Order: sequence, then C-alpha cells, then structure tokens
Amino acid sequence: MNGQLFISLLNPGIGLLFAAAFFLLWLNRREAYVAYASAAYVATAAAFLIQDVAPALPMELQRLPANFGFLLTGMLFAAAIIKRYALPVPWRAMAVTIAVAMAFFTWFLLVQPDIPGRIYSVSVGAGVIALMIVRALWPLDKPHLIDRVLFWVSALSAANLIVRPVVILTFSGGFDDYVGFQQSVYWTTVQFSQAMVSIAAAISLMVAVAIDMIAELRQQVDDDELSGLLNRRGFEAKAGAALRRSADDGLPAALLIADLDNFKQVNDSHGHACGDAIIAAFGAHVRAVGPDGMIAGRIGGEEFALLLPGTGIEAARQLAEAVRTGLAGACGDQIPPALTPTASIGLAANVPGTGLSQLMRQADEALYVAKRSGRNCVRTFTPAPVLLATA
Ligand code: GH3
Ligand code: MG
Ligand code: MG
Repeated sequence: MNGQLFISLLNPGIGLLFAAAFFLLWLNRREAYVAYASAAYVATAAAFLIQDVAPALPMELQRLPANFGFLLTGMLFAAAIIKRYALPVPWRAMAVTIAVAMAFFTWFLLVQPDIPGRIYSVSVGAGVIALMIVRALWPLDKPHLIDRVLFWVSALSAANLIVRPVVILTFSGGFDDYVGFQQSVYWTTVQFSQAMVSIAAAISLMVAVAIDMIAELRQQVDDDELSGLLNRRGFEAKAGAALRRSADDGLPAALLIADLDNFKQVNDSHGHACGDAIIAAFGAHVRAVGPDGMIAGRIGGEEFALLLPGTGIEAARQLAEAVRTGLAGACGDQIPPALTPTASIGLAANVPGTGLSQLMRQADEALYVAKRSGRNCVRTFTPAPVLLATA
C-alpha cells in the first residue's frame, strides 16, 4: 500500500466511522434525524471512495457520481438538522438545487471543460443547501447552547462553501490542468476546511442527540404518564423552587391537596381500568382549569397536589371548587353513567417562612377534615389559635 492510497482512505474511513456511530445511536433512538445523519456519512464515504480510491467510471466521468455524492451528503445532513427541530424538510428545493448544480457541473466537465466552473457548481450548490438550514433555523428560539452551535456550524459551512471558491479562485488564478488543481492551495484549503466543518457538524449533532436523550429521560423521571401531571419527585422539586421564588418576591401562594373519594370501592365495583380513566380525566381537568404558573402533580395513587404561586387563599378556594365540581363532567363517557366520581380537597395558604413540606402537611390536615366532613368538599387549614397566657 503506498502512502497516497493510505491518505486517500482517511476521508472515506472517517465518513464510515461517523455513519456507524450515528447508526448505533439510531438503534437506541429511532428518530428520522439520526438515520439521516448516518445516511449522510454513508454518502460522503461513498463519494470519497469513488473520487480518491476506486473510480466507478472512466477517468472524467467518475467525477459525476463523486460530486453527486457530496451534494447528497449536504442534503441528508440538512435534513437531519432540520428534522431535529420537527420542521418541514425542503426536499423539493434541495433536489432542484442538486439538479441545477449537477447540470452546470456536467456542462463544465463534458461540454466546455473548466475546473473553476466545476468548483463553483458543486460548492455553491452545497452552500445553497446549507443556507436552507440557516433559513429554517433562523426564526426559532435557540434556548440551548447546542441549538446555537448547530445554527452557526450551518452558517459557517454555507459561508465556507459559497465565499471560499470566489475568494481563492480570484487570488490564485485558474488551474492549468487537473494535476495543477489537485496540488493547488485551493484544493488543500477545501480538504482541510471541509474536513473540519464535517467533523464539527458530526460532533455537534451527536451532542444534540445526547442532550435530547438526557432531556427526555429527565422528563420521564419527573412526569406521571397516567395523569399527564408531574409525579411526586417532579412536583416536590418544582414546587419547592416555585414556593421559594414567590416568597422572595413577597407574593402569596396556596397549596391544594385533592384525594379521590372511596376510590378503592370504585376500583372494586367498576374495575381498575375505570379507576385509571378517572385519574387521567382528573389530570386533564386540572390542566384545563388551572392558572398559568400552577405546578400540579400526582403525589400518590389517587392523590394530587397543586401549588398556586402568586394566588391568594380566596382565588385558590374558587379553583378548588372548580376542580371538585368539574370532575364528573371531565370524565365524560370514559366511565359508566351510573358512576359519579368525587374528590375531597384540603387547602393551605402559604405564610412566609413556611416550607413546602410544612405547607403540604397543613393541606393534608385540611383534607383529613374534608374527608371527615363527609367527602366531596373543600376545607381550608386554619392554624390552631395561640393561647396567650395572661398573668
Ligand atoms: P377515601 O375516600 O377515604 O380516600 O377512600 P379511598 O378508597 O379512596 O382510599 P384508600 O386509601 O383506602 O384507597 C385508595 C385506592 O386507590 C386503593 C387503590 O386501589 C387505588 N389506587 C391507587 N393508585 C391507583 C391507580 O393508579 N389506578 C387505580 N385504578 N387505582 C389506584
Ligand atoms: Mg381516596
Ligand atoms: Mg388516598
């Protein structure tokens, strides 16, 4: 094996490694955008193989599939990034761009041979595709660093592809022949900058996949699937922070604990699936009637907690009544018509200096009073009167 061949294997080798890495990621995360990224690196590896190692067609003609492969890489990679944001992929515009670029490329290869003409055709074509990513991501909020990195890698890639040939060809003049082209500063710059952009893009997208997976797992850890609310862990974490914030801002806050009435009996008489339907309906109902900023969770089997930052006791009581009275209606035809589920609710207002666990204890005490008062009602925690000893 001579040294030149060895070097030529570097680009297809790196392409295949990235293709394999994205494929492995895809096995764990079956999302189209990960598959597109893998396909993009298969295309780039194939294009480099055809170009540098194993020509598929006689000398001149092999440049057609090779450059088509490079443009295809751009299209698949653009699709990967755009799909990550669940945006529509401009397949048609990209296909037209590739067709036009290939038409110019073929013209400058066969009809009027011209190396700079071929460079412009493919480089600008790929640059236009990169601009489509920039255009798609431009209006989006980019809350995380990785979103901004993906955006800027695409923008840099577009600039690199469109501006570079113009600048370098202007300064270096043309090429006498193909060998002169391959030894030129231009081609060295292309190989270096393209490899850097391609590696940066792959690594950014891999980090994005990892971040998406972590965000999803984090959400699964905090969410309750049945009710669509937070679970106990998620509720305590988010409510604790919100309570501290509202106390810092000098705002009121109220906490509600709701418990479905005679739920064991509901399950026994109508089945567990019916009980589950009521829990799901309760969650949806709470989300529908609750105010912005409410933090709601299922903190036990048929027990729910709602923290209302910025809400005073009277507004909280009204919400509790709305939750209680709307429950049966919210179940709709999910449950037998003869069944009217009810809930008891305990309410406590935050007093500065009270922590979440103490507030929950107070709401729980009020809930206990509601249960003892015959269920299907709202009760508010009232602190025991402080007896002042008088001499
Ligand atoms: P009370 O009015 O005093 O609250 O009576 P209760 O029967 O609701 O209270 P208890 O604590 O005795 O029973 C709670 C029942 O809730 C027992 C359990 O079978 C049921 N439950 C807990 N989690 C779920 C769930 O996820 N799905 C269903 N279908 N039932 C559940
Ligand atoms: Mg109950
Ligand atoms: Mg209970």
